[in-house]
Amino acid sequence: MQRAAAVTLVLTSVLLCSLRAAALQDLRHPPNRIAVVGAGIGGTSAAYFLRQKFGKHVQIDIFEKGEVGGRLSTVEIEGNQYEAGGSVIHPLNLHMKTFVKDLGLNPLSLNDNLVGIYNGDEFVFQESEWFLINVIKMLWHYGLNFLRMHMWVEDILDKFMRIYRYQTFDYSFSSTGSLLHAMGGNDFTTKINVTIDEAMQTAGFSERFINDIVVAAMRVNYGQGVKVNGFVGAVSLAGTSSGLWAVEGGNKAVCSGLLYASKAQMISGTVTSVQEKVRPTKSGETVRLYEINYETDKGPALDMYDIVIFATPLSRETGNVKFIGFDPPINTYTRPYYQMVATFVHGRLNPSFFGCPKPCQLSVSEILTTDEPKLFFHSIGPLSPVKPVTESGTSKASDMRVWKVFSPEPLKDEELRLLFESYDTVVVKKWLAYPIYVTPEKLPPIILHRAIYYLNSIEWAASAMEMSAISAKNIALLSYHRWFGKDGQIDQEDLVERLKSEL
Ligand SMILES: Cc1cc2nc3c(=O)[nH]c(=O)nc-3n(C[C@H](O)[C@H](O)[C@H](O)COP(=O)(O)OP(=O)(O)OC[C@H]3O[C@@H](n4cnc5c(N)ncnc54)[C@H](O)[C@@H]3O)c2cc1C
Repeated sequence: MQRAAAVTLVLTSVLLCSLRAAALQDLRHPPNRIAVVGAGIGGTSAAYFLRQKFGKHVQIDIFEKGEVGGRLSTVEIEGNQYEAGGSVIHPLNLHMKTFVKDLGLNPLSLNDNLVGIYNGDEFVFQESEWFLINVIKMLWHYGLNFLRMHMWVEDILDKFMRIYRYQTFDYSFSSTGSLLHAMGGNDFTTKINVTIDEAMQTAGFSERFINDIVVAAMRVNYGQGVKVNGFVGAVSLAGTSSGLWAVEGGNKAVCSGLLYASKAQMISGTVTSVQEKVRPTKSGETVRLYEINYETDKGPALDMYDIVIFATPLSRETGNVKFIGFDPPINTYTRPYYQMVATFVHGRLNPSFFGCPKPCQLSVSEILTTDEPKLFFHSIGPLSPVKPVTESGTSKASDMRVWKVFSPEPLKDEELRLLFESYDTVVVKKWLAYPIYVTPEKLPPIILHRAIYYLNSIEWAASAMEMSAISAKNIALLSYHRWFGKDGQIDQEDLVERLKSEL
């Protein structure tokens, strides 16, 4: 009897404690200041979603050491602007679509260029402008592999799309692994640990199809071959679908639009270090804050924040920030990024380089490549300006046009002379473009410390504008739920089933 009374007492006090904790959490004051480091699509969309979630009173500061847009940027050639970094957007990238709509921007349909895949000696595949001829060529060379790839990618996309429902219902994930698992279960988490080559071989795709078509898609999208993980590989293959688009005026316009709409304060400076400090409050209590040190034109400065979001890769070459005094130390993930050089050439392509002697006219214009060591470039394709050019603005005098060449190293003059019959303007943009993907992949954490978050953890699964936007929304939700102790909105299992009944 006594024992039963004791148990009841313990249970009651546990219940009271948790009720009190819940009440305290509900009463917890909102954060005063949030810092976002990086004003690319990740940082600016984070600021936008943070504003939606935390309301109008929180101060959001966004630090940028370079240009707003980050890896979304344009180059000017012959008076027109062209996408220099992240350029194409998938029709089912719903965050990007919504941003463009909400910010009053316009989507720009991208021209469907005819694609040829070159192996250093000849074209292993050339697209035709006739649908029926394409179908016959695909069947002849690769059997049903093209059709099967389409279905395979559709299935992955179906699962991928679940994230939008979760986010609409305010659910968040504390690691990139749990986010991927919620979308695609073990199928997605396994894909991170096998190469796209292994994933597609297991799914029954032919070696020839993988070596020609899949390799070419990987090389143009991620510079790397079929050793990249299966998830980023699938994202890359989704980029072969039709209906791809970009933003009129340049994709970076989304970043400036989001920055403006978020009412965040932009600080032009380089964040150099972060450390946790304990500060007294007016009421005599203490509060733990993060001190951010940064360099601006005017010299060093510092500010204190409740929440800090890193929206930049934290690799040594891309964002060398020191985390001071953290125990355990915050690992800065020194894994390298892949160098991709984009060379923009205003010129005339040399068909004879591709085995088509003069006066031959190449039937394809978008040239992708297989994994051939003697090839010094990954792809060449014609570009259209980010703003449609009026007739009067086009140069009718010649058949010169603007081409983008992707290569792992800057092109030498003799290499440019091989690829182009003639050219005048050349602009080179060197990028540390995306992670060097290896398998099995160890994904960096999202939560680096109590209230420090790492948006670009998601890039190690796959790097793309939409991936950064998805991570931005996840971190806005996650930081909010953790701040207010709403654990029921974090890392929930079986969301697919649960949300069916919530409709
Ligand atoms: C050549 C190329 C082609 C691509 N093609 C596509 C494509 O077609 N489609 C697609 O979806 N994606 C594409 N991508 C990938 C896409 O561009 C990126 O995934 C996306 O832009 C990443 O955005 P982000 O905001 O996360 O990072 P970033 O754009 O890298 O932004 C990080 C920002 O943080 C700033 N920063 C870094 N350190 C500090 C510091 N210490 N203090 C202050 N500021 C700092 C940087 O200056 C930068 O502006 C491509 C990328 C490249 C390079």
